[in-house]
Amino acid sequence: MKIRLCYASTRNESSTDLIEDLSSILNMARDFNEKNAIFGVLYYANNHFFQCLEGDKEIVLELFDRIKLDLRHYNIIEFEVIDIDQVIFKNWSMKYVQNGSKIELFFKNLGLEVFTPSALNEDNLIILLNELASEKQTRIRRKMGLNQRGVTSYL
Ligand code: FAD
Repeated sequence: MKIRLCYASTRNESSTDLIEDLSSILNMARDFNEKNAIFGVLYYANNHFFQCLEGDKEIVLELFDRIKLDLRHYNIIEFEVIDIDQVIFKNWSMKYVQNGSKIELFFKNLGLEVFTPSALNEDNLIILLNELASEKQTRIRRKMGLNQRGVTSYL
């Protein structure tokens, strides 16, 4: 049986290198998820993560138990686990989306200027998921110093 599991969490600010954290999380996620037919999306904004995991129930629940122990985030808000026939993120072992116009608009429509996990509920969650599915994937880039002008693709 397939499920969709979504949660939001707060990034642990004691880890100072956001790019390094995101890069290592996404590398690990894409490797494991691809091998285990897990699909989903990771969204990051305003020091919060939102993640949706879709796939076989047993594998997703086991993975989520590991994710909950990860020190790179805390204060995990879990949403209702849904049984699904079809996955939304079928093309993505783990899509990554940063704050973009559609997502900003989604939160503005809820009366919020920034991503606030506690504003999410079972009704507006599916709208957010559809926005994340249609939003472009963000490539993580590390800015280089003045001596090495430009940016370097990080992923
Ligand atoms: P090990 O590599 O043995 O690590 C042991 C412990 O250290 C674990 O608690 C691990 O979570 C933690 N850890 C590992 N690397 C770091 C680090 N650089 N800094 C701090 N703590 C660390 N993994 C997936 O496979 N799929 C996903 O979709 C996925 N999504 C994630 C989303 C978020 C927001 C975060 C924070 C992590 C995610 N991870 C994901 C990573 C996951 O939490 C585990 O790190 C991974 O599954 C490996 O687990 P392990 O017990 O084998 O870890």
